[in-house]
Amino acid sequence: MTKFAEQPHERICGARTRGGNPCKNPPVTGTRRCRMQGGAHGSGAPIGNRNALKHGLYTALAKAERREVRRLIAESEALLQQLAEAESPKG
Ligand SMILES: [Zn+2]
Repeated sequence: MTKFAEQPHERICGARTRGGNPCKNPPVTGTRRCRMQGGAHGSGAPIGNRNALKHGLYTALAKAERREVRRLIAESEALLQQLAEAESPKG
């Protein structure tokens, strides 16, 4: 007779518990962590999941748009600065 720990489904969560020891719970199917500990690679929602999307303000697309707008504004300000310096030479 084999002990429980030697069964083929002996995979454990392994997350560090509050006590500092590895968690001994079995991982949720398809992830590496148990139902108590998320956060490991492969845990959580699949990429592109929109279940919690409310307004999209923090989607990668929206953030990339804001980044691009900021870059264009900085570029324009630098150009205006150059033009202003060319208009009124200091010496
Ligand atoms: Zn766990």
